[in-house]
Amino acid sequence: MAQHQPSSPTLHNRSQMQAIMDGFPVPCALNDEQMNITFLNKAFIETVGYTPDDIAHLDDWWPLAYPDEEYRQYVIDEWQIRLDQAKQDNAPFSPMELKIRCKDGSTRIFMGYTTELNEQYKGEHLVTLHDITDTIRHEQEMRFHSQILQNLHEGIHLVRNDDGVIVYANQIIEQMFGYAPGELINQHVSILNSDTNKDPEQTAQEIMSELRDKGYWQGEVLNRKRNGEEFWCLANITRFEHQDYGLVWVSIHQDITEKKQIEHRVWHQANYDSLTQLPNRNLLTERLDQEIKLSRRNKQSFALLFLDLDHFKNFNDTLGHSVGDQILLQTAQRIQQCIRESDTAARLGGDEFIILLPQIENPVFIEHICQKLLDSISHPMIVNGEKIFITASIGVSLFPTDSKSAEELFQFSDQAMYQAKMAGRNGCKFFTQQMQAKAEWHRQLSNDMREAIIRKEFELFYQPIVNLSDLSIHKAEALIRWHHPRLGMVSPDQFIPLAEENGLISDIGEWVFQQATQQLIQWRQQQPDFQISINKSPVQFSAESVSPVKWVDQLTEMNLPGEALCIEITEGVLLSQSAVVTERLHQYLEHNIHLSIDDFGTGYSSLTYLKKFSINVIKIDKSFVHDIEEDGTSLVLCEAIIAMAHRLGLKVVAEGIETEAQRQILTHAGCDYGQGYLFARPAPAQQLTTLLKG
Ligand code: C2E
Ligand code: CA
Ligand code: CA
Repeated sequence: MAQHQPSSPTLHNRSQMQAIMDGFPVPCALNDEQMNITFLNKAFIETVGYTPDDIAHLDDWWPLAYPDEEYRQYVIDEWQIRLDQAKQDNAPFSPMELKIRCKDGSTRIFMGYTTELNEQYKGEHLVTLHDITDTIRHEQEMRFHSQILQNLHEGIHLVRNDDGVIVYANQIIEQMFGYAPGELINQHVSILNSDTNKDPEQTAQEIMSELRDKGYWQGEVLNRKRNGEEFWCLANITRFEHQDYGLVWVSIHQDITEKKQIEHRVWHQANYDSLTQLPNRNLLTERLDQEIKLSRRNKQSFALLFLDLDHFKNFNDTLGHSVGDQILLQTAQRIQQCIRESDTAARLGGDEFIILLPQIENPVFIEHICQKLLDSISHPMIVNGEKIFITASIGVSLFPTDSKSAEELFQFSDQAMYQAKMAGRNGCKFFTQQMQAKAEWHRQLSNDMREAIIRKEFELFYQPIVNLSDLSIHKAEALIRWHHPRLGMVSPDQFIPLAEENGLISDIGEWVFQQATQQLIQWRQQQPDFQISINKSPVQFSAESVSPVKWVDQLTEMNLPGEALCIEITEGVLLSQSAVVTERLHQYLEHNIHLSIDDFGTGYSSLTYLKKFSINVIKIDKSFVHDIEEDGTSLVLCEAIIAMAHRLGLKVVAEGIETEAQRQILTHAGCDYGQGYLFARPAPAQQLTTLLKG
């Protein structure tokens, strides 16, 4: 410094020096050896605030500038040390950080440079103060921010806009992606992105274009760990200008794997059948809608197969639900083995399955698949070590031939399936327009039926049941008739199945009971042992609850003994092991109400059940009677049924006797009763009253 000292003697003038130093923009002060300040420049006063008056007495000033006593002592000591050191080494003072409380009360940090003046002013020092407060604070802030970034629970990285290189990565993101500390720096950001699932190029482009437009992007991204494992993150990306790297993108990543897993589980539960793991109705509807769009666009056909197991309810009721579940499970597996990967098999619930076959070029292919399905299902299933023989019926509807709407395709395949059942089950039917017409007619009939009871359109006809040994009449079957206002007489064969479907069978059954019992009271006055049979549908049983038996109570109220009534049920009712059926049948038996098995020989014909429920009568189905003259087998069957029934103590009624020959054969075979056109057609009550009088 000494060689730069101007040699002008006028410099000795203190006021001149003051003027020069005041022009100097850095705070300066002169210290004597006792650290008394002997001079201040203007910049000092402006920055630190103290005036020459304030600093006149060292003892007053020091506590103001260094209020912390310990720190004050440190400054004094340090100053002395450096002073001694400088003297000893004959070297300049090393700069020293000084934290000074300014006159306005604020604390500022300075770097103090101290220079000893030349010989003339020996012992005096020029102290210049460089304000480093902002730099220090900035550094502290940076350190603080960096600590925050390092300790955040979100992974953060900065990517340089120019070349997509990662310039910063916090600990969390390193851990999240499985990288060692610092390993991500200078890598291209693309190593973090997964390239499966979505088209990465497009995703990256989408993100970039939105970033450019808005400067911000948020969304879910599929990332890739160092070991290749993929995981989902919620990413927030923001653009900002960095002083060193220029334009950068800061990405905050939050691992949402768990959330995704939960979402997936919830989605799976909502879209898949828990038993078979096949898509459920929900997902099927979605796929069907997609398939319609796709096929429409590509002008392609597809088929919808409605597959329903035959008599599944019987299996479920008699063998138990766990066996039922096993059957459903094996059915699902077999269906899947029969179809292509691009096909969808779904379970609608119960024993109903839907199979969607896209891209059908030739309907022969559908027939082929249907046959494959039927064969596969009819192959015996092994459940709990036992062989189970079950079959299925399939209905097919086609897009776009039958319909272009999902709803109709469902409906039509269902109708076709129904027809497959009607045609004897274990088969498949394609939907036809006639089926639709029939279904439409059924719908109309079903609607009209709702009003029929109120409008008194029903009537009970009676057909005598004749004692074959002496042709006396002590019994009659009540058979319902519907006088439809437009269609005329509708056969019960047509509307009873509909009533079973739409639930009106319960109301109708009640009406029949009331009518028949009123009629019974009249006839029993004429003929005290008279009995009326009424038909009770299996659906009527399942619609009832286990609550008190109304019919039994009502008979008692009407003073009618139980044996005055016979209830005709089908074999299926006996097979069902539901609590309601069992209890109801036992209640009937307790009250001596007779039970007869209708259409015997067409169903399962289980002797065990006949015994178990103490059945009184079996009615040989009219199909056997019809063939009895020509067909030896029918005769043998009838004879066998009669012999067996008698051994079990049951009476036998032969239905549908139309000819004298039939009557004779059956009488000869030992049949107890006969019913049929030969004796009388079902007719209004009045006709039977006349017949009974005669
Ligand atoms: P079902 O119980 O087997 O009734 C006997 C059916 O055979 C009656 O048909 C009767 O008219 C008919 N039939 C009687 N004799 C002869 C004959 O010599 N030759 C021929 N070919 N047929 C004869 P219908 O009255 O048309 O009833 C049909 C079915 O509708 C009944 O079959 C029964 O299952 C059901 N049904 C009728 N009335 C009722 C009812 O009130 N409730 C319930 N749940 N079902 C009923
Ligand atoms: Ca009957
Ligand atoms: Ca019958």
